[in-house]
Amino acid sequence: LHLANQIAAGEVVERPASVLKELIENSIDAGATQIDITIEGAGNQLIKVSDNGNGIHPDDLALALSRHATSKIHSSEQLSHIDSLGFRGEALPSIASVSRLTLASKQPDQDCGWQVSSDVETVEPTAHPDGTTVSVAELFFNLPARRRFLRSDKTELNHLTTTLNRLALSRFDVGFSAQLADQTTLKLPAITDPKLFYQRIARICGQAFVRQARYLEQQFEAIHLHGWVGNFAAHRAQTDVQYFFINGRVIKDRIINHAIRQAYGDALPAGRQAAYVLYLTLPLDRVDVNVHPTKHEVRFRDARLVHGLITRAVQEALTQDEH
Ligand code: ADP
Ligand code: MG
Repeated sequence: LHLANQIAAGEVVERPASVLKELIENSIDAGATQIDITIEGAGNQLIKVSDNGNGIHPDDLALALSRHATSKIHSSEQLSHIDSLGFRGEALPSIASVSRLTLASKQPDQDCGWQVSSDVETVEPTAHPDGTTVSVAELFFNLPARRRFLRSDKTELNHLTTTLNRLALSRFDVGFSAQLADQTTLKLPAITDPKLFYQRIARICGQAFVRQARYLEQQFEAIHLHGWVGNFAAHRAQTDVQYFFINGRVIKDRIINHAIRQAYGDALPAGRQAAYVLYLTLPLDRVDVNVHPTKHEVRFRDARLVHGLITRAVQEALTQDEH
């Protein structure tokens, strides 16, 4: 079983940023409105994520570290209507098999918190506010080959930042605080008023993007697309602002990329590169996210329709009344 977890870890846990993604997604699934992140040693020493979500019952704590113990899917029919970010019950056991993991949690109706570790079998009482903290220490300590494969701290920190940015752009209503490298704490307060979303976008994508980007919103049947499109001078060493979300999930998809490239193809002035933050929502049964363990890929029921909608909407937004 331990080996099975390590093999699964090979798919789910590529690097520190993959751990951060899984932990933040779990916090979001638990209904957290505030998520606090501490990273030490570019994630090799410590990745700690605390949330104020619904917590885990002490009876379920050890279970959460065992394989395929998801609390989010109860029947195979639900697989076609996945509305949570997680559903495979693979992430925590996988991460626990390649690190020293501690899971501490308290539900509001419990008198105290409880914790379990990957190296101690028993569940022990601990002081913890309502919510959950997962600490992942010494990632890949037992997989020297994987450890050697990791890039420089700078590269891993870039991946961690990208992961945090994506998730922060996927949920404006969740507050984040993150200490990624020594000293600096990034604070992104929760925003519920859509008129103020630009504040978080400015923090993550830069003022230049917010100043220049155009807002678009289009709907076809039950498919809805909204967000911001713009461009950057290609010669400036700007970090990419290319975010695409489907039903709140960060997606890298061939069809989407093609649709956007086609839209920018005609509308992008020379020497500029595409910059966008776009949100597609469609009924859960029209898109399959259960394609790959990291869930970055999707399969559309009507790919042509989605492709057409995106290309048209982005093109329109980019070419409307130039001044
Ligand atoms: P999945 O997210 O696919 O269900 P995970 O391995 O990521 O599987 O997590 C296993 C289970 O542990 C979840 O189904 C959930 O019940 C519980 N869990 C994990 N993290 C949290 C959290 N931050 N708050 C509440 N429950 C959590
Ligand atoms: Mg999960």
